[in-house]
Amino acid sequence: MVKTQSVRGTYDLYGILKRKANKVIELASQTVEKYGFEQIETPIFEFTEVFARNLGDTSDVVTKEMYTFQDRGGESLTLRPEGTAGVVRAFVSEGMQQNLPVKLFYHGPMFRYERPQKGRQRQFTQFGVEMLGVSTPQADIEVIAMAYDFLKQLGLENDVVLEINSLGDEESRNVYRAKLVNYLKDHISELSQDSVERLDKNPLRVLDSKEECDKRVVEDAPLYADSLNEESKAFFNEVLKGLDLLQIPYVVNNKLVRGLDYYSHTVFEFVTTKLGAQGTVLAGGRYDGLVAEMGGGDVAGIGWACGVERLSMLFEKDVSLPRPIAVIEVGDEGHNHALQIAYQLRNAGFCVEHSYSGNLKKRMAKANKANAYLAVILGTDELARGHATLKNLDTGEQREVKLEDLLEEIK
Ligand code: ATP
Ligand code: MG
Repeated sequence: MVKTQSVRGTYDLYGILKRKANKVIELASQTVEKYGFEQIETPIFEFTEVFARNLGDTSDVVTKEMYTFQDRGGESLTLRPEGTAGVVRAFVSEGMQQNLPVKLFYHGPMFRYERPQKGRQRQFTQFGVEMLGVSTPQADIEVIAMAYDFLKQLGLENDVVLEINSLGDEESRNVYRAKLVNYLKDHISELSQDSVERLDKNPLRVLDSKEECDKRVVEDAPLYADSLNEESKAFFNEVLKGLDLLQIPYVVNNKLVRGLDYYSHTVFEFVTTKLGAQGTVLAGGRYDGLVAEMGGGDVAGIGWACGVERLSMLFEKDVSLPRPIAVIEVGDEGHNHALQIAYQLRNAGFCVEHSYSGNLKKRMAKANKANAYLAVILGTDELARGHATLKNLDTGEQREVKLEDLLEEIK
C-alpha cells in the first residue's frame, strides 16, 4: 500500500488557498516590476556549498534545517532553503557584474527541516527580490519602500509593523561582538546548549535564539547602536531619513539580527501579531560581503523575501473565480450543439461550464453551484425550431434566441 498522506510539513495547495497564493505572487510581481525588477528562476537544488559556504556558519538554516543528499554521481546537493544564495550564485556564474545594478525577483518552493506548526512548513513558498551593485542607502530605502508598497497592495499595511536595525560595517560588528561575548560569558550558565556553542562561532546568533532562557539573557544584552562607528551610524540615519521622507512607519529594534549569517548594515522585518508565534511575513537586509564570498567581485547587495503562505493566511481580498456561462443540453439531440456552442463561447473569451450528465434539474443545480450568471439551455423542442433558451440566472428572466444569433446575443 502507498502511504497517501503527504510528508510531514508539506501540504497540497488547491482551491481558495492556491488562488490566494497566486494572487499574492501576482501582486508582488506587479509591484516589483514597477521598480524595474525582472524575474529570475534558479534551480531548486544547488551544490551544498552554495548554501553552506564556510564552516563558521552557525545559522539554524545551515546547521539544522537543510535537506542535503548525495546524488547518484556522488555530488552533495541541497534543496534550496532560501533564495538569495542561489540568485547570487547565478549572478556570479552568469557574469551579471558587467551591467550593474542588477534587480531580480523570484518565487518558488523552499525547503527547511523545521518543526511544522501553523505558518511553519517544511516546503513553503517565498517571493523575494535582490538588488545588486548599489552600496548607498538609496537602495535600502527603495527596497524597503517596495516591500511596504507590496503589503499595501495586499491591504495589510495596518496589520504589520516594520522593525529595522543596523548591524553596521565589519568594524562595528567586531566591536559589538567583543562586547556581546563578554556579556554572554558572564551569563553562560543561563544559556541554552546551542547558544553556548554559538558563543565562539557566531555570538550574534544568540540574539536571534527562540529559546526562552536565551531570550531572558538577551533582554539586558549590550545595545548594538552603542557599537556602531560613525560611518555606520550615518548610513543607518540616511536610511531612516529616507523612510521618514516617504512616510513609511517603522520602529527601530536594537535586538534584530536576522536568521542568516551574511547580513551587514540594514536588517528589517515586517511583523504581524495575527499569526501567533510565526509573525514575520517579510524580512530582509543588506549583504555586502556575499557576492565576494561566492567568488564574485566586491558587489553590494540588498534584498528581502516573504512567506507566501503566511501572507495568504492574512490576505482577505476577493479571489473568486470569474463567473461562467452554463451550457445545458437536454436529451441526446443537444449533445453536439452543446459541444459546439461551449467551444465557440470559450474561443470568444467566455468562461463556460458544460454540464456533462443529469436531467435538466440536476444540470441547473450544477450551474448554480458553479455560480454561473447565464445558462444556454438546449432543449429538444427549441432545437427542433433552431433555437436555444437564454436564462439569466440572477433574475430568472429567460427568452428564446436563434442558434445562429446566440454568440452575438451573449456578447
Ligand atoms: P522565522 O524566524 O519565522 O523562522 P526566518 O528568519 O527563518 O523566519 P527568512 O529566512 O528570513 O525566515 O525567510 C523569509 C520569510 O519566509 C519569513 O519571514 C517567513 O515569512 C517565511 N518562512 C521562513 N521559514 C518558513 C517556513 N518554514 N514555513 C513557512 N514560511 C516560512
Ligand atoms: Mg527560520
